[in-house]
Amino acid sequence: SGFTVAIVGRPNVGKSTLFNRLLEQRKAIVDDVSGVTRDRQYGIADWSGKTFNVIDTGGFVANSDDIFEREIRKQVKIAMEEANVLLFMCDVTTGITDLDSEVADLLRRSSKPVFLIVNKVDNPQRQLDATEFYSLGFEKTHFLSSISGSGTGELLDEVVSYI
Ligand code: GDP
Ligand code: MG
Repeated sequence: SGFTVAIVGRPNVGKSTLFNRLLEQRKAIVDDVSGVTRDRQYGIADWSGKTFNVIDTGGFVANSDDIFEREIRKQVKIAMEEANVLLFMCDVTTGITDLDSEVADLLRRSSKPVFLIVNKVDNPQRQLDATEFYSLGFEKTHFLSSISGSGTGELLDEVVSYI
């Protein structure tokens, strides 16, 4: 199917970790060039008998804060055009950063479903910390530990309900 899910957010929040986990079943990274910095990675994922494309954004190099911010905004805008569903990933260990708030402002204008993913929620203390992110105001908010996979099943159940 042409249904596409894009993962956006700051570097280091865990986007590629989730991307790789979503692709686990099929091992189908499209056009992967290892060792080369790319803006986006495309893959194919399966869940509950449904197939969809996944875009991992943010493989760019930035040597200044300005370029960094501009690149993230660019990736978010492209994702908002290409994807049917957006996964906006944040990191519980840093809390809400200014850049998170900026990305949130962009995504709130999207007419497409946006899921706020608070990642690295590896333990009960971090579950408590993660509630801070409700203040960003996204109705669909999920706490995940992409490293262990906890929370990904519920997220995917909701995502594929849009297919
Ligand atoms: P990206 O830059 O957003 O693609 O982030 P990466 O997927 O490259 O992950 C950045 C770092 O966060 C890596 O060291 C990951 O192992 C780590 N990471 C990703 N997900 C989790 C998680 O759920 N829990 C913890 N503790 N670390 C994570
Ligand atoms: Mg990455």
